Amino acid sequence: MNQQVDLLAIAAHRDDAELTCGGTLAKAARQGHRVGILDLTQGEAGTRGDAATRAAEAEQAARALGVQLRVNAELQDAHLANDERSRARLVELIRETRPRVVILPYPVGRHPDHRIAAELGRDACYLAGLAKYGAGGEPHRPFKILHALAYREDVVKPTFVVDISDTFDAKLAAIRCYASQFAGARAAGEILPTGRDLYERIRVQSAHYGSLIRRAYGEPFFTHETVEVDDVLQLGVQSL
Ligand SMILES: [Zn+2]
Repeated sequence: MNQQVDLLAIAAHRDDAELTCGGTLAKAARQGHRVGILDLTQGEAGTRGDAATRAAEAEQAARALGVQLRVNAELQDAHLANDERSRARLVELIRETRPRVVILPYPVGRHPDHRIAAELGRDACYLAGLAKYGAGGEPHRPFKILHALAYREDVVKPTFVVDISDTFDAKLAAIRCYASQFAGARAAGEILPTGRDLYERIRVQSAHYGSLIRRAYGEPFFTHETVEVDDVLQLGVQSL
Protein backbone atom coordinates (compact mmCIF):
# COMPACT_ATOMS: atom_id res chain seq x y z
CA MET A 1 0.00 0.00 0.00
CA ASN A 2 1.30 3.46 -0.94
CA GLN A 3 1.72 5.36 2.33
CA GLN A 4 3.03 8.57 0.72
CA VAL A 5 0.99 11.77 0.85
CA ASP A 6 1.36 15.43 -0.20
CA LEU A 7 -0.43 16.84 2.84
CA LEU A 8 -0.44 15.31 6.33
CA ALA A 9 -2.43 16.55 9.32
CA ILE A 10 -0.88 15.48 12.62
CA ALA A 11 -3.28 15.69 15.57
CA ALA A 12 -3.36 14.51 19.18
CA HIS A 13 -6.79 12.87 19.12
CA ARG A 14 -9.14 11.31 16.61
CA ASP A 15 -11.59 14.09 15.66
CA ASP A 16 -9.07 16.94 16.19
CA ALA A 17 -8.14 17.12 12.50
CA GLU A 18 -11.81 17.15 11.46
CA LEU A 19 -12.59 19.98 13.89
CA THR A 20 -9.66 22.24 13.00
CA CYS A 21 -8.83 21.53 9.35
CA GLY A 22 -11.32 18.98 7.94
CA GLY A 23 -12.52 21.37 5.23
CA THR A 24 -8.95 22.05 4.09
CA LEU A 25 -8.12 18.33 3.97
CA ALA A 26 -11.27 17.55 1.95
CA LYS A 27 -10.50 20.44 -0.42
CA ALA A 28 -6.90 19.31 -0.98
CA ALA A 29 -8.14 15.76 -1.72
CA ARG A 30 -10.64 17.15 -4.27
CA GLN A 31 -7.83 19.20 -5.83
CA GLY A 32 -6.07 15.91 -6.59
CA HIS A 33 -3.50 15.90 -3.80
CA ARG A 34 -2.83 12.84 -1.68
CA VAL A 35 -3.95 13.62 1.85
CA GLY A 36 -3.42 11.79 5.14
CA ILE A 37 -4.23 12.11 8.82
CA LEU A 38 -1.85 10.95 11.55
CA ASP A 39 -3.61 10.64 14.90
CA LEU A 40 -1.10 10.45 17.74
CA THR A 41 -3.35 8.62 20.24
CA GLN A 42 -6.29 6.21 20.17
CA GLY A 43 -8.56 8.25 22.41
CA GLU A 44 -8.53 5.71 25.22
CA ALA A 45 -8.68 8.47 27.89
CA GLY A 46 -11.76 10.14 26.37
CA THR A 47 -14.76 10.58 28.67
CA ARG A 48 -17.17 9.18 26.10
CA GLY A 49 -16.83 6.14 23.82
CA ASP A 50 -14.05 3.54 23.91
CA ALA A 51 -10.99 3.30 21.64
CA ALA A 52 -12.57 0.63 19.38
CA THR A 53 -15.67 2.74 18.76
CA ARG A 54 -13.50 5.77 18.05
CA ALA A 55 -11.38 3.75 15.59
CA ALA A 56 -14.48 2.83 13.57
CA GLU A 57 -15.70 6.44 13.72
CA ALA A 58 -12.29 7.73 12.57
CA GLU A 59 -12.35 5.41 9.53
CA GLN A 60 -15.83 6.61 8.62
CA ALA A 61 -14.79 10.27 9.05
CA ALA A 62 -11.74 9.77 6.80
CA ARG A 63 -14.07 8.45 4.09
CA ALA A 64 -16.37 11.47 4.53
CA LEU A 65 -13.40 13.80 3.95
CA GLY A 66 -12.09 11.74 1.02
CA VAL A 67 -8.58 11.43 2.49
CA GLN A 68 -6.51 8.47 1.30
CA LEU A 69 -4.61 7.57 4.45
CA ARG A 70 -5.27 7.52 8.18
CA VAL A 71 -2.64 6.14 10.56
CA ASN A 72 -2.29 6.06 14.33
CA ALA A 73 0.97 6.48 16.28
CA GLU A 74 -0.56 4.72 19.32
CA LEU A 75 0.99 7.10 21.85
CA GLN A 76 -0.70 7.44 25.25
CA ASP A 77 -3.83 9.62 25.28
CA ALA A 78 -3.74 12.45 27.87
CA HIS A 79 -0.08 11.65 28.51
CA LEU A 80 1.51 12.91 25.28
CA ALA A 81 5.15 13.81 25.82
CA ASN A 82 7.78 15.31 23.56
CA ASP A 83 10.26 12.60 24.53
CA GLU A 84 12.81 10.49 22.65
CA ARG A 85 10.49 7.52 22.13
CA SER A 86 7.64 9.66 20.78
CA ARG A 87 9.92 11.68 18.48
CA ALA A 88 11.43 8.45 17.07
CA ARG A 89 7.94 7.04 16.39
CA LEU A 90 6.90 10.23 14.57
CA VAL A 91 10.12 10.43 12.59
CA GLU A 92 9.45 6.88 11.37
CA LEU A 93 5.89 7.79 10.30
CA ILE A 94 6.96 11.07 8.62
CA ARG A 95 9.61 9.18 6.65
CA GLU A 96 7.00 6.62 5.59
CA THR A 97 4.38 9.19 4.53
CA ARG A 98 6.85 11.83 3.17
CA PRO A 99 4.47 14.85 3.17
CA ARG A 100 5.45 18.18 1.58
CA VAL A 101 3.08 20.09 3.87
CA VAL A 102 2.20 19.21 7.48
CA ILE A 103 -0.67 20.68 9.49
CA LEU A 104 -0.11 20.76 13.27
CA PRO A 105 -2.23 22.09 16.16
CA TYR A 106 -1.67 25.66 17.33
CA PRO A 107 1.24 25.88 19.85
CA VAL A 108 -1.15 27.07 22.60
CA GLY A 109 -3.94 24.70 23.54
CA ARG A 110 -6.71 24.06 26.04
CA HIS A 111 -5.83 20.34 26.21
CA PRO A 112 -2.14 19.76 27.06
CA ASP A 113 -1.99 17.05 24.37
CA HIS A 114 -2.75 19.72 21.71
CA ARG A 115 0.10 21.97 22.83
CA ILE A 116 2.52 19.05 23.09
CA ALA A 117 1.43 17.66 19.70
CA ALA A 118 2.37 21.02 18.11
CA GLU A 119 5.87 20.93 19.60
CA LEU A 120 6.40 17.19 19.15
CA GLY A 121 5.22 17.35 15.53
CA ARG A 122 7.47 20.29 14.71
CA ASP A 123 10.53 18.67 16.28
CA ALA A 124 9.85 15.35 14.52
CA CYS A 125 9.51 17.12 11.13
CA TYR A 126 12.98 18.58 11.59
CA LEU A 127 14.59 15.40 12.93
CA ALA A 128 13.08 13.29 10.12
CA GLY A 129 15.36 15.18 7.74
CA LEU A 130 18.56 14.37 9.61
CA ALA A 131 20.41 11.62 7.72
CA LYS A 132 22.06 10.27 10.84
CA TYR A 133 18.99 10.34 13.12
CA GLY A 134 18.01 6.71 13.78
CA ALA A 135 14.43 5.37 13.66
CA GLY A 136 14.87 3.83 10.20
CA GLY A 137 13.59 4.94 6.81
CA GLU A 138 14.97 7.41 4.24
CA PRO A 139 15.45 10.96 5.62
CA HIS A 140 12.67 13.38 4.69
CA ARG A 141 11.95 16.89 5.96
CA PRO A 142 8.52 18.40 5.16
CA PHE A 143 8.84 21.74 3.31
CA LYS A 144 6.05 23.58 5.10
CA ILE A 145 4.41 23.50 8.52
CA LEU A 146 1.00 25.08 9.11
CA HIS A 147 -0.57 25.47 12.54
CA ALA A 148 -4.38 25.14 12.58
CA LEU A 149 -5.71 28.21 14.42
CA ALA A 150 -9.44 27.40 14.56
CA TYR A 151 -11.29 28.20 17.82
CA ARG A 152 -8.22 29.80 19.44
CA GLU A 153 -8.67 33.25 20.96
CA ASP A 154 -4.97 34.12 21.28
CA VAL A 155 -4.05 37.55 20.00
CA VAL A 156 -2.71 36.40 16.66
CA LYS A 157 -4.24 37.05 13.24
CA PRO A 158 -4.42 34.07 10.92
CA THR A 159 -1.52 34.13 8.44
CA PHE A 160 -4.13 33.02 5.89
CA VAL A 161 -7.59 31.47 5.69
CA VAL A 162 -8.53 28.59 3.35
CA ASP A 163 -11.92 28.98 1.64
CA ILE A 164 -13.82 25.81 2.61
CA SER A 165 -17.24 26.90 1.29
CA ASP A 166 -17.38 23.88 -1.06
CA THR A 167 -16.20 21.35 1.53
CA PHE A 168 -17.90 22.65 4.68
CA ASP A 169 -20.62 19.98 4.32
CA ALA A 170 -17.96 17.25 4.11
CA LYS A 171 -16.26 18.67 7.21
CA LEU A 172 -19.52 18.63 9.16
CA ALA A 173 -20.38 15.12 7.90
CA ALA A 174 -16.95 13.93 9.10
CA ILE A 175 -17.45 15.53 12.53
CA ARG A 176 -20.90 13.93 12.78
CA CYS A 177 -19.24 10.49 12.40
CA TYR A 178 -18.04 10.86 16.01
CA ALA A 179 -21.46 10.17 17.46
CA SER A 180 -19.98 8.56 20.61
CA GLN A 181 -18.16 11.83 21.33
CA PHE A 182 -20.51 14.53 20.22
CA ALA A 183 -24.13 13.41 20.58
CA GLY A 184 -25.60 16.11 22.78
CA ALA A 185 -22.15 17.63 23.36
CA ARG A 186 -21.67 21.35 23.91
CA ALA A 187 -17.84 21.43 23.90
CA ALA A 188 -15.10 19.60 22.00
CA GLY A 189 -11.37 19.97 21.51
CA GLU A 190 -10.59 23.68 21.67
CA ILE A 191 -14.30 24.61 21.54
CA LEU A 192 -15.51 25.87 24.91
CA PRO A 193 -19.19 25.44 25.83
CA THR A 194 -21.69 28.25 25.32
CA GLY A 195 -24.84 26.20 25.89
CA ARG A 196 -25.45 26.12 22.12
CA ASP A 197 -25.43 23.04 19.90
CA LEU A 198 -21.87 21.97 19.00
CA TYR A 199 -22.49 21.65 15.24
CA GLU A 200 -24.09 25.10 15.18
CA ARG A 201 -21.03 26.51 16.98
CA ILE A 202 -18.75 24.98 14.35
CA ARG A 203 -20.90 26.45 11.57
CA VAL A 204 -20.89 29.93 13.13
CA GLN A 205 -17.14 29.94 13.76
CA SER A 206 -16.38 28.60 10.26
CA ALA A 207 -18.61 31.37 8.85
CA HIS A 208 -16.68 33.93 10.89
CA TYR A 209 -13.32 32.70 9.52
CA GLY A 210 -14.87 32.71 6.03
CA SER A 211 -15.94 36.34 6.50
CA LEU A 212 -12.28 37.31 7.02
CA ILE A 213 -11.69 36.43 3.34
CA ARG A 214 -15.21 37.42 2.15
CA ARG A 215 -16.29 33.80 1.70
CA ALA A 216 -19.06 31.68 3.23
CA TYR A 217 -16.83 29.36 5.28
CA GLY A 218 -13.13 29.22 6.08
CA GLU A 219 -10.41 27.62 8.21
CA PRO A 220 -7.62 29.80 9.66
CA PHE A 221 -3.93 28.90 9.76
CA PHE A 222 -0.78 30.37 11.28
CA THR A 223 2.80 30.07 10.07
CA HIS A 224 5.81 31.37 11.97
CA GLU A 225 7.42 32.36 8.67
CA THR A 226 6.21 35.13 6.34
CA VAL A 227 4.11 34.31 3.27
CA GLU A 228 5.68 35.23 -0.09
CA VAL A 229 3.73 37.08 -2.81
CA ASP A 230 4.91 37.06 -6.43
CA ASP A 231 2.31 39.28 -8.16
CA VAL A 232 0.51 41.84 -5.98
CA LEU A 233 -2.19 42.19 -8.66
CA GLN A 234 -3.31 38.62 -7.94
CA LEU A 235 -3.94 39.25 -4.25
CA GLY A 236 -7.41 38.24 -3.09
CA VAL A 237 -9.70 39.63 -0.33
CA GLN A 238 -11.23 43.05 -0.89
CA SER A 239 -9.90 45.79 1.40
CA LEU A 240 -12.75 48.33 1.31
ZN1 LIG B 1 -8.05 16.86 20.94
